[in-house]
Amino acid sequence: MYTLREIFYTLQGEGHHAGRPAVFARFSGCNLWTGREEDRASATCRFCDTQFVGTGPDGGRFATADALADAVLARWPEGAAGARRFVVCTGGEPLLQLDAAAVDALHARGFEVAVETNGTQCAPRGLDWLTVSPKAGAPQVLTHGDELKLVFPQDGAPPSAYEHMAFTHFSLQPLDGPDRERNTAAAIAVCLDNPRWRLSLQTHKYTGMR
Ligand code: SF4
Repeated sequence: MYTLREIFYTLQGEGHHAGRPAVFARFSGCNLWTGREEDRASATCRFCDTQFVGTGPDGGRFATADALADAVLARWPEGAAGARRFVVCTGGEPLLQLDAAAVDALHARGFEVAVETNGTQCAPRGLDWLTVSPKAGAPQVLTHGDELKLVFPQDGAPPSAYEHMAFTHFSLQPLDGPDRERNTAAAIAVCLDNPRWRLSLQTHKYTGMR
């Protein structure tokens, strides 16, 4: 059984694939916060901006990997010839649920499968793209992949703590909220000082995209 908060078609808003059309498969639940506001202050991850609890109107529960993959395929535009199908499995924490059977079922429908994870869980085989977004205070199991996307700043998680890890791309994303402008300026300064890092903006928030 897979439980998803929502499945929808949009443009990837942030990180290396920003601007790319994708089906977002948002899995329910996270191991670093319950998703309840009353628990936020005591959570390991306290800056979450995502609703990942339960099932929303375009989410659901799927008994099999094929049922899940069919629901993802149903969101991809018909007649979109020439573009490789792309699904971003996110959450919540998708690796609490996403397994090799689901990856295989998505591949069977022609999807390139990307995951955005907090990095605390092992990943199934066969992923095409792995973005790890580590959270201060959470044990990081995944120390290699395609993209390390660090929300910045986080007390106890300076960029230098990740630079030895085996990621192809390093993205620095300003922490949203009342200090967004200041955080953006600080992230820009880090990228200019250390070109290993590339600025990641949450373009969906600037454009009103979902
Ligand atoms: S790890 Fe991700 S999904 Fe979980 S609470 Fe933090 S930001 Fe939200």
